[in-house]
Amino acid sequence: MGDTEQILLPFRLRTVRTGVQATFGVLAGLVVYGIVAPPGTIDALPYGILLGLTGLGGGVIALLPWRRLFTSGHGLLVMYAWSVADILIITALIPVTGGIDSEFFWLYCLTAFFMASSYRPRSQVILVGLTAGAYLAALVLTGERLAPAPLVHRFAVIGVLTFMTSFVSRELLDRVRAHAAAQRDSERRATLLSAVTTAARTMSDLDSEQVLEGVVAAAMDLGFDAAMLCVFAADRRTYTVPHSRGVPAVYSDVVHGAREGISAGVMSSGRTVVVSNYAARPDAVPALAREGFVTGLATPVWVNGEAAAVLASGNRRDIPIGDDVVEAFELLAAQAGRALENARRFEQQHETVTRLAELDELKRDFLSNVSHELRTPLTVVEGLAATLDDHWDRLTEERKRDMLGRVSANALALDEVITTLLDFSRLEAGGITPDRAPVDLGALVGSTVERLSSLFAKHDLVAAVSDGLVVEADVRLLDRVVENLLSNAAKYTPEGTRIEVVARDVGGEIEVSVSDDGPGIRPEDLAHLGERFYRGGDSDRRSTRGTGLGLAFCVEVLELHGTKLEVASEVGAGSRFTFRLPRRPSERLRMAAAEERPA
Ligand code: ADP
Repeated sequence: MGDTEQILLPFRLRTVRTGVQATFGVLAGLVVYGIVAPPGTIDALPYGILLGLTGLGGGVIALLPWRRLFTSGHGLLVMYAWSVADILIITALIPVTGGIDSEFFWLYCLTAFFMASSYRPRSQVILVGLTAGAYLAALVLTGERLAPAPLVHRFAVIGVLTFMTSFVSRELLDRVRAHAAAQRDSERRATLLSAVTTAARTMSDLDSEQVLEGVVAAAMDLGFDAAMLCVFAADRRTYTVPHSRGVPAVYSDVVHGAREGISAGVMSSGRTVVVSNYAARPDAVPALAREGFVTGLATPVWVNGEAAAVLASGNRRDIPIGDDVVEAFELLAAQAGRALENARRFEQQHETVTRLAELDELKRDFLSNVSHELRTPLTVVEGLAATLDDHWDRLTEERKRDMLGRVSANALALDEVITTLLDFSRLEAGGITPDRAPVDLGALVGSTVERLSSLFAKHDLVAAVSDGLVVEADVRLLDRVVENLLSNAAKYTPEGTRIEVVARDVGGEIEVSVSDDGPGIRPEDLAHLGERFYRGGDSDRRSTRGTGLGLAFCVEVLELHGTKLEVASEVGAGSRFTFRLPRRPSERLRMAAAEERPA
């Protein structure tokens, strides 16, 4: 049963009921007519038989299961049979009630009215034709003389009545249909609205997973057989389908190339796509086409002004997708985008809070490290000074020299810590601007190695540096960088370890590297090297001293010079710290040197 027939069912049932009532009304009229008619104007026996037939027919019609007949599509056929029977009974009544003079002709008006209000124009024409044919046949068969004028008059009345009733009925039916369509439309909108508002309620959640699940569920509520959210990776090379319903696992459980499927087109165009005949599209995904999806919808999900995902849905039935569904679908995607934005912001804030907590811990570590760094050499200096003061006369010269040497070494260690702290506080305040000048990096590395040689007394230090590797840099800052790398190599590798310092030209750049074959650095530490206050290794078992600022200082100084510190390390295979600076054309250095030379 089609949609229109469904809408018209109550109308048809009421028409049948009225028709049955009219039949019994007419029957009553005919009985009264039979009683009051002047004797000799009707043939009593056939008249009585015909009235009996009419009553029987009316009874049968009244008892028929009309709802079922209309639902199964046979209702109209039975109505046609009923109309034909009516026409035949009226026609049979004509000869027995006066022939051409019979007033019973006007009963045809009732059938004509009924037909015009119930049937399509073609059926009306056929049945009116049958009425006219039957009437004429009855007159001819009973030998009546046919007078054209009354016949024309009678048929004209029937024709006009049919025409006008048909017009009124058509108007009425159009109204009924329009009303039903408007009702259906508003019901559909109410469903869409409820789906969108339900989704909006779930989307107030800050957990992005729940939000996305809610979006897909709401998309299904719009009446689709499948819905999915295709989330693109940050680099836009692939997408996954983390949330889906009604989609085969071969599609939802794999990573897709960014050019695969309708989602790819939606991402690049940023527009909604309404799909019909899915399998015939060149961008159809075979796994989905095999599922028998026919129509569908895909729309971008915007996050911070960028399409970040695609909300898609599919139908196995060939149901056209209306503008209202598209509108609701886009509304869902927009809500999802906003909720995702909130969720991302929340995650960022969460990360910031976590990071701040980590920093707080690092600073606490740092304070205890620094106080330890300062107190230890200070305690040693105080102790040595007190011993020297108390026992100066009793101490041998050699012992005194040894103790003084240790006082001096500890004072140097103190100086180093204080210099690092000062350097850092200046960096922190943005107070360091590299004082750039031509620097012979080979010579700088060579002199730093020489200055720190005492640190490597028990290491196997190899320096491969040559002169003339001139760069444009702040000599004091670069010296501190090389010093930090070298002292770390001495500090974090056991005695006897080979340490290699190289300064060389690599394709027009000067590369300085400090490598060792010491214990190496754990991957979890490697990721944090260069962060302020970060010290590697296990804090409970650490035997080395430090502030966790050395490499951070190197990183920041090298950044000021437009370059970076590269670290390559493997546990058990040593570490290598490298940085590069562009080589300065040697002519300019020579000219500068010539200017400085006294005349
Ligand atoms: P500090 O030496 O004060 O701890 P740094 O910033 O200089 O701070 O170094 C950070 C961390 O890097 C050290 O705690 C150490 O774990 C690791 N590290 C630095 N250089 C080396 C190296 N040559 N070999 C192994 N670990 C190193």
